[in-house]
Amino acid sequence: MSASIQKGVNVLKEVIDAPIASFFASCVHCGLCAEACLFYTETGDPKYTPIHKLEPLKKVWRQEYTLLGRLAKMTGLAKPLSDEEMDEWQELVYDSCTLCGRCTLVCPVGNDLTYMIRKLREGMAVAGHAPGGIVSAVKRTVEIGSPMGVKLPALLNVIKHVQEDTGLEIPVDKTGAEYLAVLSSMEIINYPEYLGALAKIFKQAGITWTISSEAFEATNAGIQIGISDIARQIVSRIVDAAEKLKVKKVLSPECGHAYTALRWEGPNLIGRPYNFEVVHVLELLEFLRDHGKLELEDKIKEAVTFHDPCQIVRRGGVLTAPEHLVNAVAENYVPMPDPGKWNWCCGGGGGASAIHEPDAEELRFKAFKRKKSQLEATGVKTMVTACANCRITLEEGIDHYGMDTQVLGLTELLAEHLKR
Ligand code: SF4
Ligand code: SF4
Repeated sequence: MSASIQKGVNVLKEVIDAPIASFFASCVHCGLCAEACLFYTETGDPKYTPIHKLEPLKKVWRQEYTLLGRLAKMTGLAKPLSDEEMDEWQELVYDSCTLCGRCTLVCPVGNDLTYMIRKLREGMAVAGHAPGGIVSAVKRTVEIGSPMGVKLPALLNVIKHVQEDTGLEIPVDKTGAEYLAVLSSMEIINYPEYLGALAKIFKQAGITWTISSEAFEATNAGIQIGISDIARQIVSRIVDAAEKLKVKKVLSPECGHAYTALRWEGPNLIGRPYNFEVVHVLELLEFLRDHGKLELEDKIKEAVTFHDPCQIVRRGGVLTAPEHLVNAVAENYVPMPDPGKWNWCCGGGGGASAIHEPDAEELRFKAFKRKKSQLEATGVKTMVTACANCRITLEEGIDHYGMDTQVLGLTELLAEHLKR
């Protein structure tokens, strides 16, 4: 066994906690998780069955923590995990899993398959079996502070343009503001109008806010690759900035993974509770609407549908805000089939959109067929969503299949319809 595989196996031994051991022991092989996973439903290939994706972890569990498995290993009847197996499983653990959580929701015995895949990634990454695209994103995050290599001067340049366009100030490093807004690189590069939308919304609501020059990136490539030390480092940057600026709340951007990383994994990663609140931008918008501080005019008349980002809705628990907000701005909202917590992933979450090998891209387009058929079922040409990563994945799928559909960001849409 090579040194790197040995390290990977050691990590897998460590991550197998009591829940994981009981999950493996309680699987009744019903196959329901396969029907919940878009990589299986859109390809029909049984290798994409979620519980099958966990075979390397299961092998270590069996050989280390069950009597029969230990005996088989000692007598040479069972072979240890090999480099070849890890290599074969890389596609199953990264390319074909977006950590969307749908399999977890359907398992009749309550197996948290998504949690297990996330844990398996920890061993895969240490063993050197993470995709190059995600490894590069992690490297850029550690060295530069952003998975897409966005440095502070680039952000300041975007801020300058947004200020000129909107005539509003984008505050930077303002101590004592109520909110610290963090962003995803995807928003800074591809959808800078999100920043302008925030400025308009905060202005109308009369709320103070700021951006930090030391921690403006919200996405967490450490969680996507499965390296907790890096995930902790990324969360700590935001915690340090929030504490230094003495804000009351940190506003997570639309980006789904940024939200689950910061809100649900962050305190566990740093080992203590935050002394500020984490709020998703849709939660803030719903709060403002409910308290008469998000006044809208000129609802859009054309029919619109909404793509629920998995990490915000199913995994993040922001269940009602999207529908309430879309209804507030559109006269004709047509729900997508399987809405809310039953949504189907865009196919690009969990770091999958950062994997650019041709096979991975081809698989993403196959998986997108689910969203394509859902969109066709609604019969509408405008899809709203609330995650920059979903948005870019949806736009790529729409372009690939030559569909006549536009994708809009919900925060920007609301900002465009604010009462003047
Ligand atoms: S988390 Fe989503 S993509 Fe991953 S195995 Fe489960 S259903 Fe499939
Ligand atoms: S749904 Fe649960 S019990 Fe059924 S095969 Fe998948 S992991 Fe096993």
